[in-house]
Parts: sequence; structure tokens; C-alpha cells
Amino acid sequence: MPEKSKKKSTSALRNIGIAAHIDAGKTTVTERVLFFTGVTHKLGEVHDGQATMDFMKQEQERGITIASAAISCHWDGHWINIIDTPGHVDFTVEVERALRVIDGMVAVFCAVAGVETQSETVWNQADRYKVPRLAFVNKMDREGADLAACVESMRSQLDANPVALQFPLGAGAEYEGAVDLVNMRYYQPGDETPGSQEHRWRSVETLSAELQEQVAEARATMIEQLAEFDDELMECYLEERDIEPEIIWRAARQGTLASLFTPVLCGAAYKNRGIHSLLDAICRLLPSPLEAGAIVGSDPDDPERPKTRRPSSKEAFSALAFKANNDPFVGQQTFTRIYSGNLAQGQTVLNATRGRKERIGRILQIHAKERRELKQAGPGDIVALVGLKTTDTGDTLCDPENPLLLEKIHLPECVISVAVSPADSRSNEAMGKALHKLSREDPSLVRHTDQETNETIISGMGELHLEVVVDRLRTEFDVKVTTSAPRVSYREAITVSAEINHKHTKQTGGRGQYAHVVMRLEPNPGEGFDFQSTVVGGRVPKEFIPAVRAGCEDAMAKGVVAGFPMVDTRVVLLDGSSHTVDSSDMAFRACARQAFQQAARKAKPQILEPCMKLEIASPDDYLGDILADINRRRCKVTGMRRYRKGSQKIAAESPLAEMFGFATVLRSLSSGRANHSMVFLAYRPLPQDRLDDLLEQLRKQQKRRT
Ligand code: GDP
Repeated sequence: MPEKSKKKSTSALRNIGIAAHIDAGKTTVTERVLFFTGVTHKLGEVHDGQATMDFMKQEQERGITIASAAISCHWDGHWINIIDTPGHVDFTVEVERALRVIDGMVAVFCAVAGVETQSETVWNQADRYKVPRLAFVNKMDREGADLAACVESMRSQLDANPVALQFPLGAGAEYEGAVDLVNMRYYQPGDETPGSQEHRWRSVETLSAELQEQVAEARATMIEQLAEFDDELMECYLEERDIEPEIIWRAARQGTLASLFTPVLCGAAYKNRGIHSLLDAICRLLPSPLEAGAIVGSDPDDPERPKTRRPSSKEAFSALAFKANNDPFVGQQTFTRIYSGNLAQGQTVLNATRGRKERIGRILQIHAKERRELKQAGPGDIVALVGLKTTDTGDTLCDPENPLLLEKIHLPECVISVAVSPADSRSNEAMGKALHKLSREDPSLVRHTDQETNETIISGMGELHLEVVVDRLRTEFDVKVTTSAPRVSYREAITVSAEINHKHTKQTGGRGQYAHVVMRLEPNPGEGFDFQSTVVGGRVPKEFIPAVRAGCEDAMAKGVVAGFPMVDTRVVLLDGSSHTVDSSDMAFRACARQAFQQAARKAKPQILEPCMKLEIASPDDYLGDILADINRRRCKVTGMRRYRKGSQKIAAESPLAEMFGFATVLRSLSSGRANHSMVFLAYRPLPQDRLDDLLEQLRKQQKRRT
């Protein structure tokens, strides 16, 4: 275990995420970071399925990292918490939640492949959360590695402003490491056998005259780029004075924190190259929680009122639970980022999202399977809390006397579902429990029971997402299940406005029911559900208005065309009337539901299908076959561009219903050389012929049931 400095100051904390396109080497980089910081004493290679971060079974089998675990390590007087972020687009919610709690990010690129489709997705997400970044160009030892081309692709494809802080010594088989252009030094290995425990690294501080000459131009370019953002550096540069490394680091840090540019480092993690410099750069350039600044939430009783918390232990406690999972050894654990105040064992906090109190049991700092128990944690810390009863992923924890609600994690649409059926009665109960646990862990997994078929349906963000869930049911929870073919999650929406005047009355002995609403439904494309009331004079008494809204939401759950959930509708409550004795929440809720359904029928409802933003990167040789295939899938190609010599990128909009099994087809069409990413774009109207097919299919299903 690393030695813990007695007093850990917040300014020495770094909360970082490591993000990459699959296969760029994120897991290997993380492994090496843990190795060199002394957390692991043995190097686990990914292809052995032993990597410390990848401790979930599916991850080992698939070689991808799904769950974001937080791991702490220590380097040069700094504490680094690494939040693992998955590279697969199906797990964007994991990336989103990691981005919410990290202060800086290391984006890993492959020196041969450059910027790939999924790196763009993650990059854009990081842009949205304004996360300062470093780039680490990995695999410099591979044939065809080209740092300059990779830097160029960051500029052209990510719109980034990359600044290379290193000069690579060779590339491919000749790669020897890289000169740190700031300090003018490099690390020389003593023993470079991968997996060896005998690494001896030496920092070479005096560059030979030949090497100095070789790197002079690259250093000048770097200084010129950095000087744009720092007056003192600019002065030194213009006057051609010797420049102290500290001045360069300061300029690099300021620019990185303000996201004005992205410092670029390089290496070959597999061969242990570049990790020391990467760790130095994380400590020197990425922000501490203090620089990440105050967090803004809202008052739970008044969502319009913002509330701010500075990263100080003097402020009231506030934290975000960003990942809840079930650990076979400690039970339910909740990864939590503390923003302000202190948290101690035994303390009672408020879960402001649910309005429930929680008592803090154990506070753990995690390194994959090893844990260290803490008595107390403070601002900026990322810890796992054990035994919280009601706290799920995305909930806010805070001081009960000073409540605050942090913004919820943005959840992508569930676009695909499968029915899961237990193979026997024993599995039935186990499946229910397992799915409950899994959906607490992963809010992008939604489950419900189909009222008509009594089947359990799970919905998620993509084919792979659900495959992983089913896999976990089988292996981790030992539940025997069978699954249906994946189905697309359709939606319904109205296309024109419609008004309705509806009365709900019932007189069945005792107290009757009376409610009356006049309302208008309007299309609200892309904006979800909205409810407004323009009622005056209390004609629908204020206390019943939430019931009217709830009735509309009830109706939205099951559309009038084919029973799919409705989206993108605004309801304006215009008028109505009530009865002093017979009106109730229940009566208004039922009335609104019926009124909504009637109005929806008049408002030309239609069925919508999920459309994805598809990007394919492929060598030229396979483009013809790929284009022919996606044309058959109703894809609309929206652009094509060359992004590397001999390769192009296709951008398209594709109806998800046509894309099942596409990954396999693409692999075989391109001999595994093309890759793709697919993220939800929008719900679009289902074309008439597909609509007829779908309605026919639904009719047949209905008939079989009756
Ligand atoms: P991830 O999917 O981004 O987590 O990538 P991994 O760390 O699993 O690496 C993918 C593959 O690339 C594995 O077989 C690694 O051993 C290999 N790899 C990782 N880093 C390097 C490197 O620096 N050089 C070479 N040649 N291979 C590497």
C-alpha cells in the first residue's frame, strides 16, 4: 500500500478519469499507474484477464471495462483518485457519471489509430462538463505509430488545441521514450521486460548536444504555443532568455485549467514508457478540487433557488453518490464524491434526493479489491460508503440542517429492450432480486413487467448494454434465464394540437366523484413532457392541479396508437370546474387521464422509432460494401470525410430497429478493420410500410394471447 501522508491537503488531491477508445490502452495505462505508484506489486496484463481495475468477470471475458470503480494512489506528495471510465458508447451513462465527479481527465489515444469514433464521443462529453484534459498518446512502440499525425487528428477532429510537451525518441520498434521538453530530461529504463518487478528508472537530466539540437524546434514550438497564454513566458520567449521550467509549467497549468489547450504526452504503457511523466503531468497540470471550484446545487424545497458550496471543510457537508454497487465482500457500497464539509463514521446525513436520512457506517478508500478504512473524509475525497439503505446512483447526500440538491446525472434514453424469463421457479425470485440490485447500480437499466404478457422486460441503451446485464444475471447472480430477441423501444407522439372538454362524474352510493377539465395538447418536439396551467379564479382548485398533471402522466405511459409510451407533449390546462364535496385528487386524476386520451386521439398521434447517430471508420477498401450494407438498413448517410491516409469516416443516421447485429456484420465485411460507434440521436416517425408491419405484428401477438 502507498504510504499515506499524515496531513492530506485538498490542494494535493487529484480526481481524474482515464478515458479512451476501446483498445487504446486505458486499462494498461491504469495498471501501470497503479504499479508505479506502488499500489499493486504485480503487473496484471489485460490479456491475462488479471488487470486490477477489471475485476468484474464480464470485463475480464470481454476485455472491456464496464464499471467505474474509484482507486486511490499516491505520487510525489499528491493523492490521485482514479475514476475508471468505460470506453464503450453503450455505457455512456458511466462516462457521464464519472465526468460529474472528476476534476480532470487523461484521454488515452492509440498512436497508430489516432482519434477514433468513441474518443470523439467521450471528448464531447468532457467538453460539456468543461473538464480540463491531458492527452496521452499510447502505443508509441507499435508499427506505424505517429505522434505528429495523432496530434493533428486531435486538432482536426476534436477541435482541440493540442500542445506537445514531449519529443518522442523514435517510433515503432525503435521507440525509446520521450524527452520532456519542459525540463529537458527523459526517463531511462533499467529493465524493460514487461511484467518484470525490477524496474529501475533513472531521470537523465543532461541531454547530449545532439539530442538538444534534435528537440530544439519542438521545444520552441511548445513555448510559442504556451506563451500565448502567459505574459512572462512570452517576454522570456521574445527576448530569447533562458526559461525556468517553473514558468513553463505555470503557463501550461493555467492554460490546461482554463481548457485553452490540451497538453500532449506520449508513451508505451505496455513497455512501461511514459508513465512517470504522465504521473508528473497529472500532479502538475490537472486541477485540485480547490481549482475545480464551488459546486452549485439547489434548495430541495425551492428548486429555483441556487445554493453554492465551496470545497472547504468549514462548509456544510455535501456529496454526490455516483455509483452504487454490490460488492461480494462488503455488500452494498456507494461511491461518493464529497464536495464540501467533512464526513465521519456514525454521522447522520440527509439523502436530499429522496428526503430520507442515512447513517454513515464504514467509509472506505478503495483500490480494486483492497480497502482501507477511514474515520473521516473531507472535501474533494472520493470514498465508498458501506451499508447505505436508500441511496442510489445519482443521489445527493448533505447536512440535514443545510439541505442542498445537486443536479441529477443526465440519463440517456432507453432505446432497446429484451424480455427475460426465468428458467425455473427458483430462478424467478432470484431474478427479481438480482434485477433490483442491478438497476440500483445502473440507473440506465430500466425494468418493468408487461401487464399483458406478464413478462419481465429490461430496457437499456444498446445491444451490448443488455447483453452484459443478462451475462451478469447468469454468472454473478447464478440465475438461469432465457431472453427474447432484442426489441426497439417505440414511442408515440401527437403531431397537431387538440382541445378537449371532459367531465368525470360517478354516483355510486355514498360520496360521488366529480371532476371537470378543459385542456389543450400541443406537440412539444424534442422537449419531453411539459405541463402548464392557465386556469384563473380557482375554477380547478389549486390543490387538484398536481392530480391533473399526474393523470396526464398516467395517460402518457401508454399511448393511444399501440400502447407505447408517449413523449414530447405539452398539456395546457385551460379551465374546468369542481364540486365542494365530490371533487378529489382521485377524481381529477382519472378525469385528466381520460381527457388526455381523448385529446391524443384527435391530435393525429404517430409512432416514433429511435434513430441513432452512427459513425463508421473504415479503410477505403471496404467502404463500398459497408455503404451498400447500411443503405439496406435505411441509414441516411450525412457525411463522409477522410481522416487518415487510406481511411474514411462515414456519418449516418440509422434507425435502431435495422441495426441489430451490425457489429458482427461490420467485422466480417471489413475483416475486423472498420469500427463504429452508435449513440442515440432522436425519436423519428416510423415510415408507413414499417408502421403497417409493426401494427400487423402487434395484432398477431395480441391474437396469440387471447
Ligand atoms: P483498453 O480497452 O483501452 O482498456 O485497452 P487495454 O489496456 O485493454 O489494451 C488493449 C491491448 O493493447 C492489450 O492487448 C494491451 O496489451 C495492448 N497495449 C496496451 N498498451 C500498449 C502499448 O503501449 N503498446 C502495445 N504495443 N500494446 C499495448
